[in-house]
Amino acid sequence: MIDKELLDILVCPSCKKPVELKDPDPGDTAQARLVCAGCGRRYPVKDDIPIMLIDEADPPKEQG
Ligand SMILES: [Zn+2]
Repeated sequence: MIDKELLDILVCPSCKKPVELKDPDPGDTAQARLVCAGCGRRYPVKDDIPIMLIDEADPPKEQG
């Protein structure tokens, strides 16, 4: 798991808001994601390492 203290210092590289650890969706890849509280980008976690890169993030779920 990702260290709580590490989570506390992580911020979204796009909007500088804190991120929140989310469990993976059913059927998704087995990794959790870090979801930005501001812009909603979803950052992957690989081998318990948060990948805080805008290029690696999934865009926010905004459709319609
Ligand atoms: Zn953000």
